[in-house]
Amino acid sequence: MTVQVDIDIAKCTGCTHCKDVCPTNVFELRPRDQVPDVVDDPAVGAKFQFRGEKSLAINGPECIVCEACLFECEGECILITDEEQHVHRSSYK
Ligand code: SF4
Ligand code: SF4
Repeated sequence: MTVQVDIDIAKCTGCTHCKDVCPTNVFELRPRDQVPDVVDDPAVGAKFQFRGEKSLAINGPECIVCEACLFECEGECILITDEEQHVHRSSYK
């Protein structure tokens, strides 16, 4: 089993924090028009501004579960399932 990194894309604001802190380059920011079925969660939009990109976890198996991204994700939309099938959720600072 490898580590799985999932993003609830509707909650992703495109803040880039995940990409900035990840030591193993799990994340890539893509323009919204290149992300299929892109929508925005209004509850997150009430607190934060949606930018022009969405984050994709393109290298999920490279995750070392340092949890840095989980505390920096303003959309609280990252969910990591480790090799023992334990689930780690975002909680913004
Ligand atoms: S928990 Fe994984 S995806 Fe998140 S910053 Fe650390 S290595 Fe990157
Ligand atoms: S930190 Fe969270 S909200 Fe910000 S770009 Fe990454 S997944 Fe999206």
